[in-house]
Amino acid sequence: TEFLGDAAGYPRWVRVNALKTTVEDQLATTFVDFARVLSVREVTASPGKFLHVDDHIPNLLAVSPSFQITKTEAYTSGALILQDKASCFPAYLLDPRSEDGHVIDSCSAPGNKTTHLAAIVHSRVPENEECSQTVYAFEKDAKRSRTLEKMVKLAGAKEITRMSFGQDFLKVDPNSELFRNIGCLLLDPSCSGSGIVGRDEMPTIHLPEAPGAPKSQPANPNRKRKREGPDAVAEKPQPIIVDDDGKETLVSSEKELKARLEALSSFQLTLLLHAFKFPAARKITYSTCSIHAEENELVALKALQSDVAKERGWRILPRDQQVRGLRDWPVRGSVDASNGDSEIAEACIRSYQNDGRGVMGFFVAAFVRDVRSDAEDG
Ligand code: SAM
Repeated sequence: TEFLGDAAGYPRWVRVNALKTTVEDQLATTFVDFARVLSVREVTASPGKFLHVDDHIPNLLAVSPSFQITKTEAYTSGALILQDKASCFPAYLLDPRSEDGHVIDSCSAPGNKTTHLAAIVHSRVPENEECSQTVYAFEKDAKRSRTLEKMVKLAGAKEITRMSFGQDFLKVDPNSELFRNIGCLLLDPSCSGSGIVGRDEMPTIHLPEAPGAPKSQPANPNRKRKREGPDAVAEKPQPIIVDDDGKETLVSSEKELKARLEALSSFQLTLLLHAFKFPAARKITYSTCSIHAEENELVALKALQSDVAKERGWRILPRDQQVRGLRDWPVRGSVDASNGDSEIAEACIRSYQNDGRGVMGFFVAAFVRDVRSDAEDG
């Protein structure tokens, strides 16, 4: 679902994989004939070969969308990864440090954030020392697990990552001895995908296998054919749902859409509350590529109001304590959706398609706690 940068006004976002290369090396090789510009807008303003080193996310480049990056050796060898800027927010915001213990990526496939986590963890290992952290990557869907495996291997992240294929994160026991030292969790669950660039039929929803999700109608087999025919322009776009396998189903009414969002947010909240239960956990990020408050601020608020959050001392990470690049990122959560609480809204990080920043619609918030409060829990 990563945006590949071929829509107007969007650059091609390229994460330089620190497990294999450096920005300096790439500027001197793959992008040697690119002109370096000072803003994302300049990258897309005119045809040619332009590149901007991102101001917020380390090791991220915005490059001219016409560049055939997938044909480069750096891309095919896993040194460069196509990853939307917003999709780089969660691992960077989580900021896993060696003193934080091991890391879980609860919903991993295809593995963009898993490999990003591995790169961050690796970058902090002092020279001649062994990496003390492991990234545990869970993926419920067996087919998507294979994609995850390929990506982790290609990115050179295999040594740092332990993958559990077909593993439902909700069935993982937080109190298992294996997860005693899990300090950080990244939660990037299935969502409506309504922030994804390039989807003209809105709203588009990725179905989770959420308990109680209402059954949707089968996709209209004529939809694609009709849209490609002469009457394509006249046809009113039908709201559709796309599940994680890319299967399409129609949402026929606002009411049905609401029910879908409810089912999604209930699943997302369950996942977040499950993460709160890991005994040594001290940092969590929760993200979606949705623009709907139901899946974003409202999930964060409900999680903060939960018994488990109160018992264990979980709080939202305020803006002024976030990593520099995300503290500086100007687009924040909605105050209305945060129950009028401007501190919560400021702590939430948003992005919107079509706002000129060249990124997809996205949401992320971090939760933290003092682990000593765990000892007090008994
Ligand atoms: N984090 C991924 C990345 O950056 O490449 C994208 C994750 S995608 C939005 C959500 C993924 O979560 C899907 O692959 C889905 O199969 C998986 N998933 C959904 N429910 C899950 C669960 N209960 N446990 C583990 N994985 C789950």
